[in-house]
Amino acid sequence: MSSLRKRHNLTLIIGLAILVAVLTLHLALHFGVPGSLSGPPSAVLRTGEMPVRPLAVMLPAEEGRPSATTALDGQATLLPVGAGAKRLIALTFDDFPFPDATPKMLEVLAEQQVQVTFFTIGHKLTEHPEFAAQALYQGHALENHTYDHVRLIYCTPEQIHRELSLCNQVIRDLTGVAPHYLRCPGGRSNATIDQEALANGLQCVDPLVTDIGDMGKSPAAIVRRCEADAHPGAIFSLHDGVPETMAALPIVIPYLRSKGYEFVTVERLLRGE
Ligand SMILES: [Zn+2]
Repeated sequence: MSSLRKRHNLTLIIGLAILVAVLTLHLALHFGVPGSLSGPPSAVLRTGEMPVRPLAVMLPAEEGRPSATTALDGQATLLPVGAGAKRLIALTFDDFPFPDATPKMLEVLAEQQVQVTFFTIGHKLTEHPEFAAQALYQGHALENHTYDHVRLIYCTPEQIHRELSLCNQVIRDLTGVAPHYLRCPGGRSNATIDQEALANGLQCVDPLVTDIGDMGKSPAAIVRRCEADAHPGAIFSLHDGVPETMAALPIVIPYLRSKGYEFVTVERLLRGE
């Protein structure tokens, strides 16, 4: 009698165990097993992964029309940055970098949230390579202003080639980005320079720039000149390391923004982006 009761209890336990197992499987199939079957959300960055900030996010939002950021947020209506907004101006600064003044210049540009183009002197950048990384991090472009800052119109084709290719090489080595544009020291070019520029993958922008003539001017005079010369597609030629220019920028940039202008690099301006 006792063994019969034990067998009965055993059958009951086995039956309950099967029932629990079936129920568990049923629940798992319908609701999923937490953790093991579902992977981590794809948007979560893994440790050590650098978040990549889209350049558009750093652009100024303009009143009265969707900003580049808004366009990116729109997903389905993803447009090239600047599309439909053709009031573009490129601020350029020759003679980059200066060890004493460039940090201040980069600070001013960061405060104003603009991306600009630095026409770089190759040998100066080799002496202060840290500025290449900082400028690139802020979204600025480094372009060619020769290696030794020589007047190219007085050089032989061989000398021109050397000046352009060496400066290209310095920028490429430090940033991983090949320059596309040349600004001649003194702002004068000729057919031979154009030819050598092309051979080095460069376009000479000298005929395209509006020379603000900022060296030796007061901040007020620089502001007046920038406001008077502003037009869609303008490429302003200014200089790195000029205190008066740095004082003028926080006035010029908000003013031109209030007139609907966006500030882009030379490359983006010439590509109509
Ligand atoms: Zn220069």
